[in-house]
This record gives sequence, structure tokens and C-alpha cells, in this order.
Amino acid sequence: MLPCAGASKASRLRWLPDIPPLSKKQLATMTISAATQPQTATRLCRFCGTGRQRTFVDLGMSPLCETYPSAADLNRGEVYYPLHVYVCEQCFLVQLEQYESAENIFSDYAYFSSYSDSWLKHAENYCSKMTKRFGLTERSFVVEVASNDGYLLQYFVQRNVPVLGIEPAANVAKVAAQKNVPTLVRFFGVELANELAAQGRRADLVLGNNVLAQVPDLNDFVEGLKILLKPDGVLTLEFPHLLRLIEHNEFDTIYHEHFSYFSMLTTVRILEAHGLKVFDVEELASHGGSLRVYACRAESQAHRIEPSVGDLITQERKAGLDSIEGYEKFALQVKQTKLALVDFLLTAARQGKSVVGYGAPGKSATLLHYCGIGKDLIEYTVDRSPYKQGRFLPGTHIPIYHPDRIRETKPDYVVILPWNLKNEIMQQLQYIRQWGGRFVMPIPRVAVL
Ligand SMILES: [Zn+2]
Repeated sequence: MLPCAGASKASRLRWLPDIPPLSKKQLATMTISAATQPQTATRLCRFCGTGRQRTFVDLGMSPLCETYPSAADLNRGEVYYPLHVYVCEQCFLVQLEQYESAENIFSDYAYFSSYSDSWLKHAENYCSKMTKRFGLTERSFVVEVASNDGYLLQYFVQRNVPVLGIEPAANVAKVAAQKNVPTLVRFFGVELANELAAQGRRADLVLGNNVLAQVPDLNDFVEGLKILLKPDGVLTLEFPHLLRLIEHNEFDTIYHEHFSYFSMLTTVRILEAHGLKVFDVEELASHGGSLRVYACRAESQAHRIEPSVGDLITQERKAGLDSIEGYEKFALQVKQTKLALVDFLLTAARQGKSVVGYGAPGKSATLLHYCGIGKDLIEYTVDRSPYKQGRFLPGTHIPIYHPDRIRETKPDYVVILPWNLKNEIMQQLQYIRQWGGRFVMPIPRVAVL
């Protein structure tokens, strides 16, 4: 049976560009045998398997962004990988080749979701909303794929809704167990979904937050999600929205851990190809603009398609995301941002002004490498995370200090690297005004505040 056979012609969204459904052969070729193997030589679209791709943006070479060398590491070499992003001419999936195996990146992941208060709040609100909207009870079953340290499922546990977390990073999953969140330490795909379905463990709600971008074998993953759903079960997926990435010039959110970048148009098409239909979508402020997409099995009549779906697709069409030309302007926009930022930093350096950074987020690696900015232009940066203090930014080796360093050295300019936290950081650092210090925003375009 074709994976899209469940989606009848009538239920296909009429406003989608006319893309023929995928043949069985196509689907077989695009399912890469092992999810943990990096793609090699031939570059085929991660979704539709065609080889016709164009450059979306070429950000040069960059090291893995979540590796912070210590002083002892500074004399060693570092591995750089290309950050060359392509867009598929057939399905418009924006994607990066996978150079490092998923196992190497994710098996001992340094990111614990529960360290962020705002993210916990987001998770709690989600649980409350889903419980009400879909009437979840102690007889329901909720599965989260990439459940991290149980940051979200713990709120369902508190409501006595049975849950299962699936998380490949053993160190993170261990923490989930302490929160009474049962967790399977596995990579998710068709194989695991079939095992769970065979055990009668299909779910009323399956969710994946910020995981879709990190999946090397997209088709195997989405097919697995469908298998895991009960006949009227609901799937929700959250991911950064490509439309906002382009509009707000958020090119530094492109890094090696994110293999794919999704528009609503492409997401609907991918889910449809696997017999799922999108019935609602919400726009969220997280990660510079994200989507929460709601989907169910194509044949389910339990969920009415909300106008939000068509509205967002209309917006994307207006922005040109349904034609290859809509993707071509981005590279130029990114280059102009680089020129303006480097120009600003060179002028400041010539004038003898001191410039430092604030924050050491993963995205700073992309920004600094692409722009060729090192210690000569940004003397140091600071971060509140004790893990990062005393270490260095990958590649550029810009030192990371405790935030007090700014008060001690009184720099003329502070470049805010996690621009998504701009207001919070400017509030905390108001004191730089005492010596005439100014803030610099690198994205969406250089601004001195
Ligand atoms: Zn494609």
C-alpha cells in the first residue's frame, strides 16, 4: 500500500501546489537504511528523494556548535563541517547534509530542557491545553518522542495521564526516571513504532517538540509517528518556522544539529505523504517564531480542519515559498548582514573602542564563523552558565567569562549574541549606561541601542 493511500483525493488540501504523490519506489529509495548513518556522496532530498537542489545559503565552514573547548583543548585541532544549506526544487524542503552521525551528536547530549524556566512554563501550558482540548484522562496514553529529561511529560504524570518518553540520550533519560517519567532509551522510527503498536501501546496523543529538524531519516520518523497513533489520535509537532527564519534573517539558527528547516507548505506535504492530515496550526514565539502543527490520520473524522491551516499557507504563498524564486533572495540578505556587522566592528576597532559579547549560545558559532569574527574584533564574551565559564567559543576561541567581567572592564559595546533574549539581557545590563556603554544587535540587521 502506498504511504499516502490513506489520504483520499478529496481530503488533500486544494491550495497546495500540484505535486504528484510519491510512488512506492520513490519512498523506498528515500528511506535511508539506518537512521544513525550519515548521508554520503550523492545528495538527495531527505524527503522526496530527488537530486535537484539549489543553494539556499552557503555559510562556509563551522565546528559543531555545542562543543566548548577548555584551555587544555586549545592546542588541539578542531573539526569543521560545511554549513551549506540547499532547497529542494521539487518539494522545497530546506536542508543540510548530515556530516556527523546522529549517535555522535545526540547520544550524550549536553542540553537539559529543565534548565530553562520559560521552557518549563511552555510545557506546563501545553499539557493543560491538550488535556482540556482532547479530553485526556487516566485511560489515555501520551507518548513524547525526544522527551529529554521528562521536562514536559512530568505535567501529564501530575494529572494521572499515563505517558511514555522516548529519548536516545541515556544521560538525559536517566533524569526523567527520577521524575517518574517512564522512558525508553532508543532512537525513534518505524521499527520502534511497530514494536509499541504490537504491544497494544498506540497513543491518543503523540508529540515531538523541536525534534523534526534533527531527524536524519525524516520519512522513517514520520511514518513511525503515524503508526503510533490510535485511529482518532492526535499528533502535535513544534519546530522553528522557515517563514520567520527568512523574514527575520535568523541565519544563525542554522547549524549542524538541525538538518531540515520547515515551511507549513512542506510540512503538510510530508505529513500527507505518510497518511496524516494537518487540522490546526498555532504560531508560537519560541526560537524566533515556531509552529505547533496538529495532525491526525487522514481517514479520521474526529477533527475539523481549522481555518488557521489555510491562512498560514496563504501567507507562505504570498511570501513566495511555493516557488524556488522565493528562496533565492535569502543568501543576499545574509551577505548584507555580514558586511554591515563586520563594517561596524572594523570601524569600532579603528576608533580604539572595546567590544565584547554577551552570551555563548549555539547560534553564535554560526554567526561568528560566517562573518569571520575572532578575538581581534570581539575580545571576550560572558555567560551565566557555570559550565561555559572558563571555556572558549568553538573555533574562534573567544574566551567565555562570568558576567561580572563586563562591570570590571567597562566595554564601549556589548554585542548581544542570543538576540532572542534581547529585552531580558538589556534589562540585566542596564548598568553599562553608567559609562556610556551601548548594546549591539547583530540580527536581523546591525543596530546600536
Ligand atoms: Zn524534495
